[in-house]
Amino acid sequence: MKKDTICAISTPLGVNGIGIVRLSGPDTYKIIEEIFVAGKNLKQGKRIKIKDIPSHTIHYGYVVEGRRRIDEVLLTIMKSPKTYTKEDIAEINCHGGIIPLKEVLSVCIKKGARLASPGEFTMRAFLNGRIDLTQAESVLEIITSQTEKSLEISLLKLEGSFSEKINNIKEKIVRYLSQFEYLIDFPEEEDIKAIERVGEKEIDVLIKEIEKIISSSKRGKILFEGVKVAIIGRTNVGKSSLLNKLIEEERAIVSEIPGTTRDIIQEVINIKGIPVKIIDTAGIRKTKGKIEKMGVEKAVEWMKKAEINILILDGSQQLKKDDKKLFEKIKGNNYIIAINKVDLPLKIEIEKIKKIFSDEKIVFISAKEGKGIDELKEKIFKIVEKGEKVSEGEIYLNLRQEELIRKLKKALIGCLNSIKKNLPLEISTEYLRQAIREIDYLTGNRYNDEVLENIFSNFCIGK
Ligand code: GDP
Repeated sequence: MKKDTICAISTPLGVNGIGIVRLSGPDTYKIIEEIFVAGKNLKQGKRIKIKDIPSHTIHYGYVVEGRRRIDEVLLTIMKSPKTYTKEDIAEINCHGGIIPLKEVLSVCIKKGARLASPGEFTMRAFLNGRIDLTQAESVLEIITSQTEKSLEISLLKLEGSFSEKINNIKEKIVRYLSQFEYLIDFPEEEDIKAIERVGEKEIDVLIKEIEKIISSSKRGKILFEGVKVAIIGRTNVGKSSLLNKLIEEERAIVSEIPGTTRDIIQEVINIKGIPVKIIDTAGIRKTKGKIEKMGVEKAVEWMKKAEINILILDGSQQLKKDDKKLFEKIKGNNYIIAINKVDLPLKIEIEKIKKIFSDEKIVFISAKEGKGIDELKEKIFKIVEKGEKVSEGEIYLNLRQEELIRKLKKALIGCLNSIKKNLPLEISTEYLRQAIREIDYLTGNRYNDEVLENIFSNFCIGK
């Protein structure tokens, strides 16, 4: 299939320092030769012949339409195959306003390029075999990373660390499969027993390897999708003050993460690389004149939505009935008891609280003065770490990948069981074939258009 040439504005539209129009495809340089004039002075400027200039070079000049100057630009030439898409690419660095970018884009389209669809550059990188599907997906993960840590994991995935793991597993399965198939064609009772015994052991090792991937991905998931926290407590204990304090120190830049809902999340803060999503427990950020009371029932509802609950108590007052009611409800969840307002004389019955909760659950804070906030953050971090400790490297699996990895594990378990039960070899080989299919779908060796469209539609245009 002959591909056409695509173009797009690859930088956000607005008033920026620079903006980039990107082209990829077979006619890229034909178009560039028509619209680019090199040099400072338009009259003395030269038309360049792309075939005469080396790849990966930058050229100063103007984008023109006929005799009309459109913008003063820097043009980057990257020739196939060592490019993002493996095709001929040109990137035009324009002045970053909406008009110059749209004008440059429009002249590219007039000369025969087509406006790229979302993620089409990355899709071409995949279809042209430069990266596999999991690597293509990691490009989106890089763009939507919310913390340094999740960025690090996605970069590793883009580099191919996950693909390598999976391909190693596939190689082994392919080897067993060919051995098993040989035995089906030339059945020697002795050989069958011996090879099955080895196969059984090795498949068991593979299953353990896959389980490790799944468990590493649990932490990866938290690093990507964050952990949900609810700040609960009676009115006036200091919920909004605490939230504001946390935001002031650690507000994370939030981007949309495909496939996750953000509608009940008020704020995302970054605690040691973990995106902590603070649920909007109604009224927590009051607007003037609108003070909502958080009843016990409402608080319990929020508790259930969060993975970690922070119950705030007002240290300057004695415990109230509602505080005690929340004590009963909070157990059984991951929680922290934060005794607030320690800058004031403490009237709260600390001994009573210590009888109910262990010291490690309790933290003394002053949301007003910022005391104890680091300790509180440390406690949140510890809860996350404790729950999801893994022995080696973290991986992030998106839903699609996770589902396929689970199917892969299931197929291998099927194979193992059929060997154990002495079922005919044809059955174990069928399971192995299925396992290979799941891996092929994972890496994109096999795919269907619908899945591709689904993946790339989450990208922005120009990526
Ligand atoms: P919410 O109803 O639980 O959200 O409580 P707010 O955050 O609105 O706080 C209620 C009142 O307590 C406000 O007047 C705050 O200024 C005050 N407050 C909150 N935290 C502290 C604190 O650590 N020390 C002191 N002295 N006052 C606080």
